[in-house]
This record gives sequence, structure tokens and C-alpha cells, in this order.
Amino acid sequence: MLPTTSRTPSPSPASTSTSASASASAPAHAPGETAESWRDLPAAQQPEWPDPDALRQVVTGLAKAPGLVLAQECDRLKRRLGAVARGEAFLLQGGDCAETLSGVSGEAIEAKLRTLLQMAVVLTHAASVPVVKVGRVAGQYGKPRSRPTETRDGVTLPVYRGDAVNSPEFTPEARRADPGRLRRVYEASAATLNLVRAFAAGGAADLEQAHTWNRGFIDDSPAGRRYTALSDEVSRALRFMAACGVRPHELRAVEFFASHEGLLLEYEAALTRADSRTGLPYATSGHLLWIGERTRALDGAHVEFFSRIRNPVAVKLGPDATADEALAYAERLNPLGEEGRLTFVVRMGADRVRERLPALVEKVTANSVPVAWVCDPMHGNTFEAASGHKTRRFEDIMDEVQGFFDVHAALGTHAGGIHVELTGDDVTECVGGGGNVREADLHRRYETACDPRLNHTQSLELAFLTAQMLRRRKGREQAARS
Ligand code: PEP
Ligand code: MN
Repeated sequence: MLPTTSRTPSPSPASTSTSASASASAPAHAPGETAESWRDLPAAQQPEWPDPDALRQVVTGLAKAPGLVLAQECDRLKRRLGAVARGEAFLLQGGDCAETLSGVSGEAIEAKLRTLLQMAVVLTHAASVPVVKVGRVAGQYGKPRSRPTETRDGVTLPVYRGDAVNSPEFTPEARRADPGRLRRVYEASAATLNLVRAFAAGGAADLEQAHTWNRGFIDDSPAGRRYTALSDEVSRALRFMAACGVRPHELRAVEFFASHEGLLLEYEAALTRADSRTGLPYATSGHLLWIGERTRALDGAHVEFFSRIRNPVAVKLGPDATADEALAYAERLNPLGEEGRLTFVVRMGADRVRERLPALVEKVTANSVPVAWVCDPMHGNTFEAASGHKTRRFEDIMDEVQGFFDVHAALGTHAGGIHVELTGDDVTECVGGGGNVREADLHRRYETACDPRLNHTQSLELAFLTAQMLRRRKGREQAARS
């Protein structure tokens, strides 16, 4: 049995609002109430906080702190995800499995953003629809674990639950859940988002720039050379737009959103704010929050909390998820049938997606429930290498993406996007790909705090291969119309 959350008297955050334009009207109901109903239900994967007073103090402080995002921004992302659900946009969601406090640096954030933008430019061209860019960033500090404790040489300690909770070193002090870390995570997330917003607004990362970076990958790496033709097409498209004098805002500024697993409910509840326009509660720790595979119990605290916030939300669906469960999530989390409110992130594994996904998509579609379907090709394909490293094969990852596309093509539904764990650095955590990382190479730069991530080159390769799938899909659609 997993530990349930400790009870902390809730501070009322109703005095602060998420809206930039202060509204004269009072909130319809206090989010302090709506953000607390989860406390009556079992909450999986919460740490045992040994010092409840210290937790109360931190949570009270967070409840008075400024939210990190605005309700309007969350609504905008919801509209974008509505387009994804209708097949009019494609979602690219990616970043670390687990962010770390010591890993927050300008260089790391820039490298990650660059990688995502490079992926986005080729996907945009191939899909011929906008690519919605969402980072696993600025809040991805809490990790669900398969066991609450870890034993080494006969010593048992609490498991490492991410930098939001404790520290990975195997000592009792390091593994003690420290609520002060929630405050540090909030501050690290604020600093990260500040830089992300500056990059996004400042034009330091526009489409042309991203394409120029891609040319480096194409021209200088054996992995990249196979994609010369597609890259040349992007060059021609950009030259054509420039020749037409097209310099729209879209090409200069980049719209970028932040997401993380809404795992630690004390943190999420403390950062819930009323939208001053409507009085409705929003989680202001990030634009999009998702419920993980291990915390999606329909009668659990996470689904309850998520049912109360108005952000766009996602649910991870593993190989054992049933079609009835998918419908039940839609009922609980999107009773109004709002487009863009609910995304299903499917992570079944390359060997199971073709067999298990169709029933879910069919039932949800038959019930006219608007959802965006997104493929996480990482979490169903993890295995342990002989060296003991947790890893994933690039070929399995691509096979799952292909399987996901095949299922949607067969059913006439939309493969809405991809959700991947990646870094802008040249790590050796996943094997395979054009750069040919072998199992024997894993020890060289194995730096993840949790799951193995695609490195920069593998991420670009995934984007080019996914672009080719989108291209084939477009070809089929055009053929069907003519
Ligand atoms: C994750 O996204 O890092 C994760 C733990 O995924 P899942 O909940 O799908 O296992
Ligand atoms: Mn992970």
C-alpha cells in the first residue's frame, strides 16, 4: 500500500489572482475550497513529510507567492490543444524526465529549448500545421517510484522522489523528505520560466535560426545526412517566404508552454489561484499538468484535484488502461466536453501499442469525446542493460511512434503529437540511432536523475523520422481527397 498524504491545514490562496488585468468582480468561489477536496481521498506517491509544521510553513508561504503562469496563458494553450484534437495542429512536448535543482543553468535551458525548436521546425514543415511547443520544464521535480523504499547492503531508506522531495545520495539525511525543497523548486521554476519567456519573446530562437542549427546537424553528422532532402525542402520554404516578404510575428517570436506531472499535491494545491476574470481555480505552477500512470486511480486524490482546476490537463495511459477508464477520465476531467481540456498521453510500449490502443480510441471516438491523442514512446520501452543502466532503444521508440500513427491512420483519427524525454546535451542514456550509442557506451555520459533521455542528435533524428511519417500521412489524405 502506498503512503497517503499527510494532512496539512490548508492556507487560503483566494486573495491572490492569476489574471494580469485585475477584475473588480469577486471570485465566484474560493479556490481554497476547490483545491482542497483531494485531501479526503487516498493520494498515491506522496512523501511522508516527517515535520508537519515545517511543511505547513512552506505551503503557507507558497500560497501567498505569485503564481508562475496566468490563467489566460493556460486558456490559450487549451485552445491550441483543441486544434490538436481536431487534427489542425501537432503537439511537441519534451524535456527531462526529472529536472534537478543543480541542473538549472542558462546553458542547459538554452540547449533544451534549441533542441525543441529544431524539432519543431521540421515537424511544422512536414505536418503543414502549427506545432504546439510544450516543455517538460519549470516544475518537473517530483517523481513517482515503483517502491517507497530502497535497500542497499541490508540498509533500507526512503526512495529518492525527485529534487522536490529529497536528494539521491544514499544517506538517511539525504533521503529525508524536506519541505524546504518545495520552495526551492518554486524558485528554480520561476528562474527557468523567466529565461524561457525571454528566449521565446526575444526572437533569439526563431524558425530560421532553428533551421540554421538543423543544417549543422544535416551537414556535419552521419546521422543527419539521411535527412538532407527534407532539410533542403525546409530551406526552400523559408527562402520562398522571405522572397514574398513574409516576416510575420510567428517567425520571430515563439510560443512556448511549460508542463509537468502534477504529482505533489501539497505543492499544486498551494499554487492554485483564482482567475480574477472568472473566479475559477487554476494551477499556476505550469500551463499544462498531467496525471502519471501510477497516480491515475479514478477514486484517488489526483483525479479529484485535477477535476477542480481549469488548466488543460493530460492523463498518461499505460498498456493496462481500459477503454472504460478512458471514458471515465473524460467524464471526470472534461464533463463539459471542452476541446483542448483533456489530452491522453499513450505510453504502451512498441510491442503493445498496435494491439491495445485501438479499443481505447474507438470507444472514446464513438462517444464523441473531444480529446487529443499523444504518443509517449519512452515509458513503455525501458529496460536494464547488462551494465545495470536503465535505458531505451531508439529503434523501439520509433517503432512505438510508428505504431501510434498506424493505429490512428487505420481508425481515421488524429495522431496528435509526441511526448518525449530529451536533453539538449550529448548524453549517452538511450542506445541506437544514427549516432549509434551502444550499450557499452552508456557509462560515458549517463547523467539523468531518473529515466534515460534522448540526446540532442537522437532528438533531431526522432523529429526527422516523425516528419516523414507526417509526410506520408499527408500524402494519403491528399490521395483520398482527389
Ligand atoms: C514520466 O513521465 O516521467 C513518468 C513517470 O511517466 P509515467 O507516469 O507514464 O510512467
Ligand atoms: Mn520518466
